[in-house]
This record gives sequence, C-alpha cells and structure tokens, in this order.
Amino acid sequence: MYTAKAYSAAGASSPLASSKISRRDPAERDVQIEILFCGICHSDLHSVRNEWSEFMPTAYPIVPGHEIVGRVTKVGSDVTKFKPGDLAAIGCMVDSDGTCPNCHAGLEQFCPNMILTFNSPDRHLGGVTYGGYSESIVVDEHFALSVPANLPLAGAAPLLCAGITTYSPMRHWRVGPGKKVGVVGLGGLGHMAVKFAHALGAHVVVFTTSPGKKDDACRLGADEVVVSRNIDEMKKHTSSFDFILDAVSADHDVSAYISLLGLDGNLTLVGAPPKPLPVAAFGLIMGRRSLSGSAIGGIPETQEMLDFCGEHNITADVEVIPIQKVNEAYSRLLKSDVKYRFSIDMASLKSE
Ligand code: NAP
Ligand code: ZN
Repeated sequence: MYTAKAYSAAGASSPLASSKISRRDPAERDVQIEILFCGICHSDLHSVRNEWSEFMPTAYPIVPGHEIVGRVTKVGSDVTKFKPGDLAAIGCMVDSDGTCPNCHAGLEQFCPNMILTFNSPDRHLGGVTYGGYSESIVVDEHFALSVPANLPLAGAAPLLCAGITTYSPMRHWRVGPGKKVGVVGLGGLGHMAVKFAHALGAHVVVFTTSPGKKDDACRLGADEVVVSRNIDEMKKHTSSFDFILDAVSADHDVSAYISLLGLDGNLTLVGAPPKPLPVAAFGLIMGRRSLSGSAIGGIPETQEMLDFCGEHNITADVEVIPIQKVNEAYSRLLKSDVKYRFSIDMASLKSE
C-alpha cells in the first residue's frame, strides 16, 4: 500500500479539496499508472452531490474521475499488455467477475459484480474505490486501454466515458449513411455524439437549449441545429428520425423527442437525470417507436472506439484546467458553460 495525492469531497455539500488516499501496490496482473489528464464528467458531479442517492448512494470521502489517461509506471509479473513508459487509459470500470455471460461477451459494464472506478466496494483495500482526480491509480490490466499515439492526451481522456458512452449505442443501433440521427444536449457526451454520428456518415441534427452553441454544433459535424425551446422548429422534424441520442443531465420533456422518431425509430437515453422522466404511451405506440438506455461500453468496444478515434483523429474539445479550479468547473458545468469538456491537467496536483 502507498499514499497518493488526490482531490476528494467530504460530503454532498462540501467542495472538492486536496487530500491523501491509499492505493494498493501493483499485484501480478496490475498496472500502476501516473495520471496525466482526467476529464470531468457530469456523473462526477451527480455522485459528489449524492444526486443519485436512490440508485447508487455516495460513500464519503469520494474521489471522482473516470476519464483517465496516463503513463504506466510499474507492471506486475503477469502483465502482458503494458510495460513501464506506455500510455494507458482507464474508464468507468476497474473490475468485474470475468465469469458471467456478460463478461464473456465483452460487456463487462453489465456484469452483476462490476466495480466502478469510484464509489464502488474496493475488494483489495476495503472501503470504496477512488477515481482519477489523483496522481496515480492501480488496476487489473484487463481494464486498462491502449491510447493511439497520435491523439493529444488532454482531449483523449474524455473518450474513456463521454466517448464510449455515445459510440456504443450508435454502433448498437447501426448509425451510418442514410440515417437521420438526433443528438439532444450539446455537452460533454453530446459533442462526442455529434463527432461520431458525423464520422459514421449519418445526417446529424443537434437539439440544444443554448442558441449560442449553434455555430459550434455545425463545426463539430451537425448538418442542422434546432433550438429545442422553439416549438415551430421542433415540429418541422416530427416523425422523421431513425435514432435520437438523449444526453441531457437534467429534467426535460423526453416525449417531445419521442414524437420526432419515425416508424421503428429509437430514442436511447444516456443522460441520467436524477428524477424519473414521464413518457407519453401514445408517443411510443404510434409508429412502433422504442425508448431504451445504454451504459458506457465493454472493454473490447472501448478499445475499438479508441482505435476508431485514432484513425479519424477524433478527440474531445477540451478546456484544460488545473485541479485547483475543479469547484469552479462544477459550477460552470451546471450552467452548461463548458466547451465541451473540462480536462484536468494532473501535473497541477504536484504543488498540493
Ligand atoms: P454536460 O456536459 O453537463 O452536458 C449536459 C447538456 O445537457 C448540457 O450541456 C445542456 O446542453 C443540456 N442540458 C442541461 N440542463 C438542461 C435542461 N435543464 N434542459 C435541457 N437540456 C439541458 O453533461 P455530460 O457529462 O455530457 O453528461 C450528460 C448526462 O449523461 C449526465 O446525466 C451524466 O451523468 C450522464 N452519463 C451517463 C453515462 C452512461 O453510461 N449512460 C455516462 C456518462 C454520463 P445544451 O446547452 O445543448 O442544451
Ligand atoms: Zn462519465
């Protein structure tokens, strides 16, 4: 066991502050990674403030962060994928049972014994797992991903959650040429969804509550932009979409988007607002439309997504901040004021 610097929150209304945590020494199958960049996901904020208390209550202190890139500093004797000095990345999971049907299918995110990168039981040290707002992390090599060498690291970090969470449902629902695809909410997830849908060859329509994001949406790859508070603009798209990805973090009218789906169209929720969303039954019945959800992606698909990003030069648009600005970044996230992901430069933790 060793001590690592981190930023943690002591309670739901406490700010994140400098602290020390314990990490395990790397065992046979483990890699130890010096964290270089960690993205700020809205899930970090939901968890720090215990907004998901009904589904996954937060244990304090919490060290959030699950969009991690860094450099391997040590490997255990059985490790084959990495050597010291390699780049490596960690997303939302650090363990699973490896034996259930979902693990065998490479869908570790649906394993009943999956362990999240933070706020999950830590089988090695007791207590809970601590995430990427930290100088280092130790994980089983199965949960460490390879980062294509051509990608800038600050923008690559958000691929580990915002990237895979939007890539996976688009692959599942076969987004591609000839498909009309909507993206609701141009935040961290939404802007990655636009990049992927565009790269996959779909016709992309962005729905935003922020008129000021229109130009950016087009630059990111949108063919059309709709300000969702404008009912007339919304109506023009009635019954026309093959697929809509909803990446909104707060309460909103999901039925308004279901009515925009065509025959057999699907709306997938990846956004996880704390409160249940009402759904109009007739919106689904008419047109045999479907509503579904999706959680991150499995390890093989996460590697596939990173390789796809390497080939297509896709990374997140990031605002790089020092860790000391993390509380300010959370306030701005709540105001939809980020273009389009905060990425923490972990070198800033050295001065704490
Ligand atoms: P984010 O960067 O804060 O983006 C959320 C966007 O939603 C905002 O930029 C805004 O876009 C829109 N929005 C915010 N409040 C709204 C409101 N009241 N009404 C309508 N639109 C609103 O958040 P994120 O990191 O992308 O995460 C989005 C959600 O996905 C969060 O709930 C997060 O926990 C969840 N998530 C789920 C998974 C998964 O596996 N399913 C993984 C990661 C994150 P506009 O300004 O364009 O309107
Ligand atoms: Zn996330």
